[in-house]
Amino acid sequence: MINLVNVRKSFGELEVLKDINLQIHEKEIYGIIGQSGAGKSTLLRCINGLETYDSGTITVDGTAVDENDKKQLRQLRKDMGMIFQNFNLLSRLDVYDNVALPLRFWNENPNTEENKKKIEHLIELVGLKDKMHERPENLSGGQKQRVAIARALVNDPKILLCDEATSALDPRITHGILELLKQINEELGITVVVVTHQMEVVKQICQRVAFLKHGVVLAEGKPEELFVKPTEDVKKFLGEEG
Ligand code: ATP
Ligand code: MG
Repeated sequence: MINLVNVRKSFGELEVLKDINLQIHEKEIYGIIGQSGAGKSTLLRCINGLETYDSGTITVDGTAVDENDKKQLRQLRKDMGMIFQNFNLLSRLDVYDNVALPLRFWNENPNTEENKKKIEHLIELVGLKDKMHERPENLSGGQKQRVAIARALVNDPKILLCDEATSALDPRITHGILELLKQINEELGITVVVVTHQMEVVKQICQRVAFLKHGVVLAEGKPEELFVKPTEDVKKFLGEEG
């Protein structure tokens, strides 16, 4: 589904991604874990074309993520929803209008009966039916992330990219958000890529995980394999994580 072959990326002198090779399968929940500065967000942003890469190839569903093909890039971006640590909701819009926003962005009419139903259905799916017309300032962190998830799904993406989506939330709320991601993966068949520095996230929902350090994938596999027989680097990371 998502293929990275020999991907490299530098910011000036700093090589942030060094020969990354990854295959993320359709409908799996794939984790990318590593410490701050490892290159996780950069990797995610290269996948959805928000960031350019210097060499190698990234393909999504067989289509190359190519900065020179703007039309294709636009379609690829539409196929990938994204959520962030700080939710990125618009404070002047209520829950409903926040979720509807990407439709406007993609020049779709959010007021057709079909789209109205879809928006309401997504808000229900994330458990916020009773908050449909609240502003973000009246929501908890977990609820804000639920709005962001509904918004990320409004264009029917094939892939959901999550960049530290639970890092600002306490463990109990994190658990609920991760269960929601699992539900979305199972019920809607969406491939989920989770970038995190939290081991619990990987343990709770990821089917496979890549451990990234200084722009290199040091280990990859099923979480149980990676953590039962950890390499020295993974051991060190586990130790530092507590
Ligand atoms: P964190 O866990 O803190 O979010 P990360 O693994 O997501 O870290 P990245 O944000 O991908 O790490 O950053 C990797 C490295 O690239 C860091 O050293 C960062 O300072 C650098 N970097 C990221 N974006 C830019 C940019 N636009 N210009 C220059 N350097 C950048
Ligand atoms: Mg990051």
